[in-house]
Amino acid sequence: MDPQALARLALLAAILAVSGNSTPSHISTTNSTAYIVQAGDTLFSIATKFGTTIAAVQEANQLADPNALAVGQRLIIPGAVAQNAVTPTPSARGPTPTVSSSAQATATRVPSTSAETETYIVQSGDTLAQIAAQFGVIVAELQRINNIANPNLLSVGQRLIIPKVTNNAVTLPEGISLSPQAVRQGQTLTIRVQAENVSEVLGKFDQQTLRFNRVGEDWAALAGISRCANYIGKFPLNLTLRDNLGNPKPVQLNVRVNAGTFPTEDITLTSEMSALLDPAIMNAENALVAQTVALYSPGQAWQGAFRMPLDVKDPRVSALFGERRSYNGGKPGLCGHEGQDFGVPGGTPVYAPAAGAVVIAQPLQVRGNVVFIDHGRGVFSAFYHLSEIAAKEGEQVQPGDLIGKVGTTGFSTGNHLHWSMWVNGIYVDPIQWTKQAMP
Ligand SMILES: [Zn+2]
Repeated sequence: MDPQALARLALLAAILAVSGNSTPSHISTTNSTAYIVQAGDTLFSIATKFGTTIAAVQEANQLADPNALAVGQRLIIPGAVAQNAVTPTPSARGPTPTVSSSAQATATRVPSTSAETETYIVQSGDTLAQIAAQFGVIVAELQRINNIANPNLLSVGQRLIIPKVTNNAVTLPEGISLSPQAVRQGQTLTIRVQAENVSEVLGKFDQQTLRFNRVGEDWAALAGISRCANYIGKFPLNLTLRDNLGNPKPVQLNVRVNAGTFPTEDITLTSEMSALLDPAIMNAENALVAQTVALYSPGQAWQGAFRMPLDVKDPRVSALFGERRSYNGGKPGLCGHEGQDFGVPGGTPVYAPAAGAVVIAQPLQVRGNVVFIDHGRGVFSAFYHLSEIAAKEGEQVQPGDLIGKVGTTGFSTGNHLHWSMWVNGIYVDPIQWTKQAMP
């Protein structure tokens, strides 16, 4: 296959499920870190510290008995993240140290030249993946900050800059809170400002304009955090708080975006698949999608957490949101899957996950029969490959309203439901919305 066709396919397959099947043996998560058990630790306290679950730590360490921890025991913490911030208290205004998960990895560290990074000297036998895991960062981040094009070309004695992930806690300015505190790639970030003596809040997170609404006693805005591999590290949050007299108070802080726990999978593409693609069709369709989700309706239509769009108990996930895909053994794409796929039989009813206005309900060539819902405040859902469309453009839907049926229309090789969500035009993980009520 010619390189252009392969690039086109890679782009397309980031949108859609080409294989429809995700084989667990292909999946490997790359970001994990190590922790040495201290006196008084429990598996619960360790899991909580690192923002993970007992089950995940048990599985990563093959612990048969979660109560049988020994002081000094080395645990692998899967998908460990750094805390962005701690709740400010009047007595604790300085940086708050978090657990140093890799304190034992001292042998080849050299004194730090910066508060935010340290240096590591590459040893014989090191791989970038091992070094990343040891320091609780991801390979892509090490590659980016060290300008390493090929992660397999490390030389002994080479100096690597390592971001200090675990020592990244900052104290947020009083009255400002973030949820989640340790935000990951692909998540939705809620920024709250206490409303007392604040009549208006304006702001930007990185390139995104934030729109604050009154939510209870606070002002709150949503930001979409890109799932793409290069969107990691610290990004500026700039706010302007106006008091009741209209006096502006600027607030600036950095928010650290942690690595997402995206699996990677290699997919074999055939030249027959490439033949189905006309770049002009794909570009026009992508433009329609981008235009649609760039609209902003001020009212919030949804309330509370979203429901699942399927009434199937534990539907099989055939492709995860943000899953990194490589093609025919090549380099994984930068951004990964744009939604979550559920492998369920054709004809399975699909329901609106939350209230909103149906803004697209029509057949598209690549995504098949689709329904797009505008939930307000820059939040959108879309469902692809439907066998039937039951919703009409312009219609208001309520959670649980039938909007279509599962199918395999468009560029799809088997019955499945693809669910994408956007916040401010950025793809976000829909599953977070089913677990957490966003303001
Ligand atoms: Zn998909």
